[in-house]
Amino acid sequence: MRYDYVIIGNSAGGIGCVEAIRELDEASSVAVIAAEKYHAYSRALIPYYLDGKIELDKIYYRPHDFYQKMNVETHLGVKAVGIDINSREVLLEDGVRVGFGKLLIATGGKPFIPPIEGLSGQKNVFTFLKLEDALGVKETLKSAETSLILGGGIIGLMVAEVLRRKGLEVIVVELADRVLAPVVDPITSKLVQEKFAENGVGIILQNTIAKVVGEKEVERVILKDGSELPTDLLILAVGVRPNTEVVRDTPIKVNRGIVVDKYMETSVKGIYACGDCAEIYDFVFGANRVLLLWPTAYVGGRIAGFNMCGVRRELTHATSMNAMHFFDFYIVSAGLNVPNDSDEFEVIYKLDEERKIYRKFALKDGEIAGFILAGKVDRAGIFLKLMKEGVKVTGFKDKLLKEDFGYVDLSEEIRWDLLADKVKLGVVYEYAAYEA
Ligand SMILES: Cc1cc2nc3c(=O)[nH]c(=O)nc-3n(C[C@H](O)[C@H](O)[C@H](O)COP(=O)(O)OP(=O)(O)OC[C@H]3O[C@@H](n4cnc5c(N)ncnc54)[C@H](O)[C@@H]3O)c2cc1C
Repeated sequence: MRYDYVIIGNSAGGIGCVEAIRELDEASSVAVIAAEKYHAYSRALIPYYLDGKIELDKIYYRPHDFYQKMNVETHLGVKAVGIDINSREVLLEDGVRVGFGKLLIATGGKPFIPPIEGLSGQKNVFTFLKLEDALGVKETLKSAETSLILGGGIIGLMVAEVLRRKGLEVIVVELADRVLAPVVDPITSKLVQEKFAENGVGIILQNTIAKVVGEKEVERVILKDGSELPTDLLILAVGVRPNTEVVRDTPIKVNRGIVVDKYMETSVKGIYACGDCAEIYDFVFGANRVLLLWPTAYVGGRIAGFNMCGVRRELTHATSMNAMHFFDFYIVSAGLNVPNDSDEFEVIYKLDEERKIYRKFALKDGEIAGFILAGKVDRAGIFLKLMKEGVKVTGFKDKLLKEDFGYVDLSEEIRWDLLADKVKLGVVYEYAAYEA
């Protein structure tokens, strides 16, 4: 079988691409291949499903007849194991070869599993990237009383909160000296740690699991410092890496992720990549990097889709942006995660220890290069726009630290520029829509 467009991946990137192609081209043949058997679902909603806040059907973010309406053929529940660049075919694990005119690789991320003595596929050990993981954890919860989470990153902490709310004893073990180290600064980490402590979650820092004990199920773990902890449920949330396996043995250039240009095209003509498997241009960072973000994957898929159809579109405004909350504590961090004593950046910040409200901005050449809002995150979208538009904020930088900062604090000229941006069609508009 051969299609005009083939998409590997049925998630944010893949769906973005399908929708862009169909906006421009109703007639060509399109196929979606995905290892997971499920209808397109939101990974971000997995913790909410586990928490019981939403039913399973709410996790699917496109109607049940989406593929039919889009006139897309699906190959779901089958893994792509390689790409033959010469014959322009995707090789599936069941031996089928799927020919393509143009190809998008949107295979996402895969969990990093650290080498741990005794780990051998025990049934109460999970990562937390897939719906399947959430279904497995849900089942295990029926009999579990204690849980241990390896990794104090966003995903590990999200799971920790849910498990605690479900009444389990929860301990998070983190190798670094603080949680969320890659995405926020030490002050924010401390506020988050306090929030978890208040809610009865134990956090053990600068430690890791050396060994697990138990055959069919892990019964206890032994940490690097020799201490032992019993557990009925073990979650490995140490990190996510770009899933680039399918391009192994091809000339497609891979660095940390599949390298793409601003049109989302890889080093091989006609083959595109986007989302968690790709390394894309971060306009604040000033170079390509892996951004494990839903909107970036979706917009990247759309940009790829347009270019695959011959309509030139560029991804210009991607950068790191995390909106998260743990218990009732909200955080938005975006751009670069800069230390407060940086020589390279001008850093301004304000911490209200009592109310646990923190605001911080890192400026470079008068422009916002990164910011963190914690405890109170209203109007984060304005800061994101100022950053994306490269607005010089020097003249009103002290106002940025005001808790009620808003459009009224901007000069009329800047206000109009930002508002005009809202009606501009393109990446920025799409980004804003997905932040909402
Ligand atoms: C628990 C959790 C919460 C999150 N919360 C947020 C959030 O709040 N905000 C945010 O921006 N991001 C969040 N993310 C990250 C976000 O979900 C990802 O950035 C996004 O899903 C990436 O989309 P993608 O299309 O690149 O890949 P993925 O969503 O990883 O999907 C990859 C697709 O490729 C398929 N696939 C993989 N390998 C193969 C293969 N060899 N052959 C065939 N098919 C294959 C998979 O089956 C899947 O369909 C969260 C992630 C998790 C796990």
